[in-house]
Amino acid sequence: MLRTVAALAACMAGRDGGTGHVTMCDRRPAASRHTVSLAINFQLSETALSSLDLRRLRQNEHVRALTREVHVQLDQLIQPLFVAEAITHPEPVPGLTGVHQESSESLLRQVERDLKAGVTKFLLFGVPRARAERQIDWSFTASQVRALKARFGRDIWLATDVCLCSSTPHGHCGVLNAEGDHLDNDASVAELVQAALAYAQAGADCVAPSDMMDGRVGAIRTALDGAGLERTILMSYAVKFHSTLYGPFRLAADSAPKSGAALKDRASYQLDPARPNDAWLCAERDAAEGADILMVKPGLPYLDLLRELSRAIRKPWAVYHVSGEFAALEALVAQGLADRAALHREILIAFRRAGASMIITYGARFACDWLAT
Ligand SMILES: [Zn+2]
Repeated sequence: MLRTVAALAACMAGRDGGTGHVTMCDRRPAASRHTVSLAINFQLSETALSSLDLRRLRQNEHVRALTREVHVQLDQLIQPLFVAEAITHPEPVPGLTGVHQESSESLLRQVERDLKAGVTKFLLFGVPRARAERQIDWSFTASQVRALKARFGRDIWLATDVCLCSSTPHGHCGVLNAEGDHLDNDASVAELVQAALAYAQAGADCVAPSDMMDGRVGAIRTALDGAGLERTILMSYAVKFHSTLYGPFRLAADSAPKSGAALKDRASYQLDPARPNDAWLCAERDAAEGADILMVKPGLPYLDLLRELSRAIRKPWAVYHVSGEFAALEALVAQGLADRAALHREILIAFRRAGASMIITYGARFACDWLAT
């Protein structure tokens, strides 16, 4: 302890431990060095040494609770829901404990259970039976929105994902060009606008475009306002990376790019993990185009960007703790290597610490227990 303090004092005074070598701290102005030097002399007293015992404020749960700066509350969590037209019974999603692809009937029962568990915010993904390249029929997912709002009304806040990948024959998030090797941006945006309008007219509180086409936020906002839907919130998947962590989700939403398409993956429209500048450009653009809420997806590998962006762009920020991340935690628990509640709680705290106002997590329906322990 004494050696540490002495070294710290020497450093702050501008010299290392008596060798006379100039340290990096020497860059501070001379007057500042003098002030720091006086402060260090005071700190070297025995009384001041004990003040360096930072463990004092960790010694019991009372004082730990009093000094916490970050909190996670159940009402900050959003539960994803999957509903498929082609099934009649719920089917479990591999890797995602407690998450099912629901039928229209089981969807209502699940939301009823979620409400009892204290969950009131949802993000709905619809999987229609029919698929089409253009002029897609959005009526199935819209009907599910209508049914949920008719049953639960204002007891729930319902966001609806807006994308093409569960509705196109090839599984891409937009309309393919004639060669089949690239997405036609404007044709894709036209389809997305129709989806957003259908969901908003059905009563969705929020529409959430996840496709990553250029200009879709502005186009959807303009269309909503033009249709008298000014109160519908627009949450943009603004910073969505081309990630390997979407595996279980693609099973649940039946949205993986199909083999045989010339366009093999989503690298040409989702963000490159090695290009953080692109994340800034997307976030700034979507904010300017009228997004009410901005999102980073996935979560844990991109906490650096969530932290920086949420501090710089004064919009509410959502983070999506995606299926691969969630399944990895569940695998750890399944092997008996971690306590489930403590593990998920730690990750949720990390998202809040990095600046997320809201967290989309497959575990929202279990979080009442996780946050209470
Ligand atoms: Zn998609």
